Amino acid sequence: MAKFSINLKDGNVEHQKEPIIGIDLGTTNSLVAFIKDNEAYCIIDDQQKSALVPSIIYFDENDQPIVGEQAKSMMALHPERTIYSIKRLIGKSYKDFENQTNRIAYKILDDGLDSSLVKVVVGEKLYNPIQLSSLILKELKNIAEKSLDQNVQKAVITVPAYFNDSQRQATRDAGKLAGLDVLRIVNEPTAASLSYGIGLNKDTKEIVAVYDLGGGTFDISILILEDGVFEVLSTNGDTNLGGDDIDQLIVQHFANQLNESNKTKFHELRTIAETAKKQLSFQDQFTTQFHGETLSIDIQQFEQLIQPLIAKTLVACQRVVTDAVLDIAEINRVVMVGGSTRIPAIKKAVATFFKKEVYDQLNPDEVVALGAAIQADILAGNRKDLLLIDITPLSLGIETVGGLMDTILPRNSKVPNKAGRQYTTSVDGQTTLKVAVFQGERDLVTDNRKLGEFILKGIPPMPAGIPKIDIQFVVNTDGILKVVAKELRSGVAQEIEIKSTYGITEEEMALMLLDSIQNAEKDMKIRALLEIQTEASSVVHSSKKFIQQNIQFLENEEKETLNNHIQLLENAIKVATKDEIQTVMDALNAYATPIAHQMMDVQILEAMKGKKIEA
Ligand code: ADP
Ligand code: MG
Repeated sequence: MAKFSINLKDGNVEHQKEPIIGIDLGTTNSLVAFIKDNEAYCIIDDQQKSALVPSIIYFDENDQPIVGEQAKSMMALHPERTIYSIKRLIGKSYKDFENQTNRIAYKILDDGLDSSLVKVVVGEKLYNPIQLSSLILKELKNIAEKSLDQNVQKAVITVPAYFNDSQRQATRDAGKLAGLDVLRIVNEPTAASLSYGIGLNKDTKEIVAVYDLGGGTFDISILILEDGVFEVLSTNGDTNLGGDDIDQLIVQHFANQLNESNKTKFHELRTIAETAKKQLSFQDQFTTQFHGETLSIDIQQFEQLIQPLIAKTLVACQRVVTDAVLDIAEINRVVMVGGSTRIPAIKKAVATFFKKEVYDQLNPDEVVALGAAIQADILAGNRKDLLLIDITPLSLGIETVGGLMDTILPRNSKVPNKAGRQYTTSVDGQTTLKVAVFQGERDLVTDNRKLGEFILKGIPPMPAGIPKIDIQFVVNTDGILKVVAKELRSGVAQEIEIKSTYGITEEEMALMLLDSIQNAEKDMKIRALLEIQTEASSVVHSSKKFIQQNIQFLENEEKETLNNHIQLLENAIKVATKDEIQTVMDALNAYATPIAHQMMDVQILEAMKGKKIEA
């Protein structure tokens, strides 16, 4: 049996004094939090009153992005240049999002490719949700750097429990693009639980329900906490239910109190509605003057208005309990998350449903960020007593055909851990197999770090592809990696040990991560060029087809100009940059679109000739 040992703890995050921030990247608001003197707190930008940074980006006339409160104030004036709810788009294709377009006022684009991300159109420019999210993350990074007065490069970012791999990966990529090394993606309900200290005692086993009503979404999750590890048992909710809907109900209530000319001042009414809602969390009555008329709502009216909305969330609560195959009595704790859970009627309804007092002492819009900061502190090695600490700092894998890295234990895998895969031979009669172990994030092993290699000898000669060689990676609680290789048909195992100092220094690890971050940008550029080339090729194709189909209706001059444009675009695809291709393609589209409309009319007329319309 071949095996060798590597101490992964050398250069592990434990030793670093670099700050690690916790980020709640929200649909409505985002926050950044940090730990000081063992206490988590949300960082407040010196320009702002609150730690909440609206997840909104306004692009000015020069396409310069402005993030946060200032962007929010531009929403009414420049809706087409003010981008919000980006979290709804991240990691999604246009198709995924199609039925939700009523939730946004800006333009999004379908490039016809299932696999690619939906694009947001701002003036002449296109942005994908990763780029947009990275702008928000950059703003949070800046806020943290200013406040801590040092560079910040490491972060923990939270995502909803129901986020799939593609949404999680896209969130990671956004972090990279913002210049952040994302040490871990944490589920929002887990972070919220941590903020209340749930999970900080590894000996308890608990079941936790997390009720999260934010600005535009409602999530209910049930988690089980065992041995210091949180696992999601079930999730439910409604991606189109939140504080915005409550505002809308109040707007309608107010509109009924106004005469015709004031009824339609929706933007103003919305702002007042949100203020009214917030005040009704602390007092029984709200009254104000509105263009010479009186607007008022009292707590009874308000609670009656939102009753159906509360009922809807409770239906989801019932489902999530059923899905987790639990009895309500088995749920040990209920945590309240999201700005909208400040509403007393909601707290009361949830407490009644779960037959329990709820955790609501902390600011509900801060708990996710606070928990992310606690997770960051754990990763920084400042809470050594906790089991949550241990992860593999870089991915571990072996070299396969073509010099490709085959990752067996991904970066940030929990420790202890065990993972394996089966391989086979590539040559007839092959009796030996070299197993080379690498650490790193790049696709080619030459870009990663070699930890060592050994040769499995004595495989009985068989045709290529027949031997079954099992390779297991086992990392124990001390972070020691053991690699075990065995040919399963014969049971053959060769014993070779390789000794080496496999530890990796902090600098080396930082360099490797930096490398993958830098390449992410390069890879993203290459990907963007490939995408536009594909799009342009399909425009060329459809333009040629268009000329063919309409050959008898087109003027000679039109044909010539179209062909010129097509020729230019074909050349551009071969040699030009992304932006140049875009320009040439836009020119072709601008010329062809009116002609296409005209042709459509001509064809309709042709088709109608000689046909009678039934009376
Ligand atoms: P998200 O998680 O969607 O980013 P938040 O948790 O920040 O959002 O919640 C934002 C929502 O909370 C908004 O709809 C806001 O109006 C609402 N909210 C904030 N404070 C209060 C309050 N005191 N009473 C009622 N709703 C509130
Ligand atoms: Mg939230």
